[in-house]
Amino acid sequence: MLLGCIADDSTGATDLAAVLVQEGMRTVQTIGVPAPGTDPGEVDALVVALKSRSIPAAEAVRQSLDALRYLQERGARQILFKYCSTFDSTPEGNIGPVAEALMEALGAEQTIVCPAYPTLQRSIFRGHLFVGDRLLNESGMEKHPLNPMTDADLVRVMAAQSRRKVGLIRYDTVHQGPDAVRRRMAELAVDGIAHLVTDVTDDADLRILGEAAAELKLVTGGSGIALGLPENFRREGLLGRHAAGALPEVNGLEAVLAGSCSVATRGQVADFKSRCPAFRLDPQTLADGDAQIEAALAFAAEHMPSGPVLLYATAEPAEVAAAQAVLGRERAGELVERAMGLVAKGLVERGVRRLVVAGGETSGSVMAALEVSALRIGEKIDPGVPATVSIGAEPLALALKSGNFGTPDFLIKAFGAMPGGRP
Ligand code: ADP
Repeated sequence: MLLGCIADDSTGATDLAAVLVQEGMRTVQTIGVPAPGTDPGEVDALVVALKSRSIPAAEAVRQSLDALRYLQERGARQILFKYCSTFDSTPEGNIGPVAEALMEALGAEQTIVCPAYPTLQRSIFRGHLFVGDRLLNESGMEKHPLNPMTDADLVRVMAAQSRRKVGLIRYDTVHQGPDAVRRRMAELAVDGIAHLVTDVTDDADLRILGEAAAELKLVTGGSGIALGLPENFRREGLLGRHAAGALPEVNGLEAVLAGSCSVATRGQVADFKSRCPAFRLDPQTLADGDAQIEAALAFAAEHMPSGPVLLYATAEPAEVAAAQAVLGRERAGELVERAMGLVAKGLVERGVRRLVVAGGETSGSVMAALEVSALRIGEKIDPGVPATVSIGAEPLALALKSGNFGTPDFLIKAFGAMPGGRP
């Protein structure tokens, strides 16, 4: 194994794995840290998906170090810590604390901080993160239910959650190529700067940074930074050109679970509802017991034989705020995530084998409930979202979409991109 990756949520892990497949690395994603000695098979890259984005920082550090030990045991030559392309975190972490714990364990003095991926509308200019044409804090992310992002200045956001110093490698240096970037890294190292936020205005910059990062023991960033890393191994003669992941056919009933309230998901849910049956779950009713879960499953059982159904908690910001005012932010989220897990289990018991899930945290809960522990990564459906099939006795076809990904018709379109179909 060449590249060992630690991702702070499961859709983010899948997004990263898709980039690695596209760049010719055979990739398996595990859900959580596999037991020591578990053999992932013949792989060039292994992505360990944690659910560590919004948990207490000390716990995120512990889980990340466990993942690191597993990846080192399998011989990983470089470690990539993957977080969200919108840098989802709080003033306490967990990006800074995890990056620093990994640096310490690896004996790394410097790393890059690069959530950018211009193809996916995430660019960084003078240290400021843009989502499309908007600054991060005007992109809708400032209203995220768990990690509201109210500052687009990544140097400031990273500094608030780090002990070591944070600096910037500006676009004019990046545009001069890998040697200029390496020189700048060395200059900043003299000043003791450990975390290097990197400007990125198009995907070519990511390949430049990837090449410049060849010698770093730890790289941190979004899935985009992985574009330039496989080539480093190829240059060293360690990596061939493998065909991207072909997946086996999976046949069965089809359902969509949406627990994301992001702008793109809200549009996708509206599109789906205009064409197919949909059932709404809401945290305030879920707080009173499991009757709504039973009702959702009965609804699904009735409609699934004639096509996919949607079960969703997706709501407008005002509705989310109202539920949070009554239940608290954490409890509202937990109620929805638990319900999504139970509904997913009930759906599989009722013959669902093809499942689309919207929401990073939501996908994590659904995978845990279904006891899915590893995914084979296939071709991408949309940027950032590949088709996948679970590894195990009863394979499931899965498309795991993080909140802001996918075209407006994604929730229906995804089924066409997963090999197999309804019975
Ligand atoms: P995204 O990928 O868009 O960030 P996530 O699934 O990661 O989506 O996060 C969405 C969070 O919002 C989850 O914790 C989910 O349980 C919570 N949530 C979903 N619907 C509601 C709702 N109606 N009210 C309050 N919280 C909600």
